[in-house]
Amino acid sequence: MHINRERLVNEFLTLVQIDSFAGEEREIADYLRRQLTELGLDVTEDDAGKTIGGSAGNIIAQLPGRSDKPTIMFCAHMDRVAPGKGIKPVVEDGIIRSDGTTILGADDAAGIAAILEALRVVKEAGVPHGSLEVVFTIAEEGGLFGAKALDRSRLKADFAYFLDSNDQVGAIINRAPSHQNLDFTFHGKAAHAGVSPELGINAIRIAAEAIASMNLGRIDHETTANAGVIHGGMATNIVPETCTVKCEARSLDPAKLKTQVDHMMAAAQNSAAKYESKVDIKLTDCYPAYTIPDSHPVIQLAAKACRAIGVNPLTKGTGGGSDANILNGKGLPSVVLGLNYKDAHSTRESMAVEDLVKVTELVVSIIEHA
Ligand SMILES: [Zn+2]
Repeated sequence: MHINRERLVNEFLTLVQIDSFAGEEREIADYLRRQLTELGLDVTEDDAGKTIGGSAGNIIAQLPGRSDKPTIMFCAHMDRVAPGKGIKPVVEDGIIRSDGTTILGADDAAGIAAILEALRVVKEAGVPHGSLEVVFTIAEEGGLFGAKALDRSRLKADFAYFLDSNDQVGAIINRAPSHQNLDFTFHGKAAHAGVSPELGINAIRIAAEAIASMNLGRIDHETTANAGVIHGGMATNIVPETCTVKCEARSLDPAKLKTQVDHMMAAAQNSAAKYESKVDIKLTDCYPAYTIPDSHPVIQLAAKACRAIGVNPLTKGTGGGSDANILNGKGLPSVVLGLNYKDAHSTRESMAVEDLVKVTELVVSIIEHA
């Protein structure tokens, strides 16, 4: 197969120079709609932007193919984190970086560029293919909002590949945890700290004892928990009336997640009860867990495609969530592929041209071997 390296790199450089942010994807969405239309795909945009208050929706593009092959979806997200506007990419010794004042945006422009170049190669070389679906989501960063608002009934794919992981090329992420947030508001009673402290109930103390009695950090090889933000009190001379604590728990195993969340809630309630006070608890489901067995066609095909281009396939789990959690939750078997971008979400972020080419080869190879 012939990947046009120069065209691929130029596409990547073009993409990162189009400003994008969660909820502000209009410009990049318009650009991508044009590219996909030129490639002969049937391009639509859903109303996820309206749902979440953003400027663009998810882009869904379809290319019909042979019916004796599965319909495969490739997906990447259009938004990026801050500081991700005004990116000035620099290519040096085969490595692409920003000028140091912004992120590079390889997360996830590398995924988008690889998908576009793969489609160009497939078209030019006349590679026989099954039906293909390309989805570019909005607002992945900070909440997977585009994927959550994506209308599953519009998708025809049998399974999906999300190009969005810093793991090495060849990594196939087939396990990811579910994640719940726990927001605690501990209620104490305000009083003058010098004149009548015995009339008060210190909400910070209740919160502190609750946190101290929670098992946090790594709970076991598939479960983690954290207390991440605490706010409380007004001044040193006031017994604090309220204290809020933001926590999270994650596990690859839904039963273990429930055990951990129950434990954290009980710790908060016990501490509040000890001081005859009360705690409000808000639980939020962030995303569901998934595990896809190695025998599933989505993995078998990726592994075969990897070996065909001399890359070692490796299935592995992750502690993070992605759009793939949401689509798996909606019943579309999905895995995440490694792109090997480095230091994402920092101004040191970089992408090796070699890896960009490799992952594009992998996309073509998946299409060829389906
Ligand atoms: Zn990403």
